[in-house]
Amino acid sequence: MEKLYPESKFIDIEENLKVIRENIAEAAIKSGRKPEDIHFMAVTKTIEPMYINHALENGIDLIGENRVQEFLEKEPDLKLDNVKAHLIGHLQSNKAKKIVGKVDVIQSVDTVNIANEIAKHANNLGITQKVLIEINAGCEWSKFGFDIAEVKEKVHEISEIKGIDIQGLMCVAPICENTADLMQIFNNMYNKFIDIKAENWDNVNMNILSMGMSGDYQEAILGGANLVRVGSAIFGPRIYRDKH
Ligand SMILES: *Cc1c(COP(=O)(O)O)cnc(C)c1O
Repeated sequence: MEKLYPESKFIDIEENLKVIRENIAEAAIKSGRKPEDIHFMAVTKTIEPMYINHALENGIDLIGENRVQEFLEKEPDLKLDNVKAHLIGHLQSNKAKKIVGKVDVIQSVDTVNIANEIAKHANNLGITQKVLIEINAGCEWSKFGFDIAEVKEKVHEISEIKGIDIQGLMCVAPICENTADLMQIFNNMYNKFIDIKAENWDNVNMNILSMGMSGDYQEAILGGANLVRVGSAIFGPRIYRDKH
């Protein structure tokens, strides 16, 4: 009955943001960086605009949504001045037209085909769409993302598509039994990020390494992430109202 008690949820959000910021700062320093080197995204899927706006009033300047339709429906109610939005969920080709140009970055480019589709709409609009390349980080249950062994070659292929600007890599890490396995995944991602960066390819800027969620953002930062995507640790457990 969250709607009856928005005030208490507002307070929870403020407290959660404070704790997460402290944790991010601590992990950043441990990893030899500054707290402000880490971009803190609030993942807002299933969350109502009034709560998202509360997070925005409390210093959040980047949100992530999974579904095109949900983002477009909520967008008019969001206070997005000076705030950026990214698409972080799998994008189907028939939805690409609706989202290109509406978000700063599409983080979830997981096939060459969707990159071409995004580029087509970007070119029609006369813009360049920033994207990240999604890696399937050794995760059997995740259907999306390039295999880490093939990603370098795919990044090069996608970089030659006009209308797309590659800004980095993203992954959703599996739930690991132990921290060592998880750290191995983050380290592999970081090594790939550095490896691709060193190629200095035209149209490939390895600026963003997007990894780490509510359960593992500190480990991700220790592993080299500079953008973490945190949802339930800010807003509480998600309540899914529909399935589509
Ligand atoms: C839902 C989601 C998140 C945030 O998950 P939490 O565990 O709630 O922090 C991050 N990234 C992606 C791609 C997601 O779909």
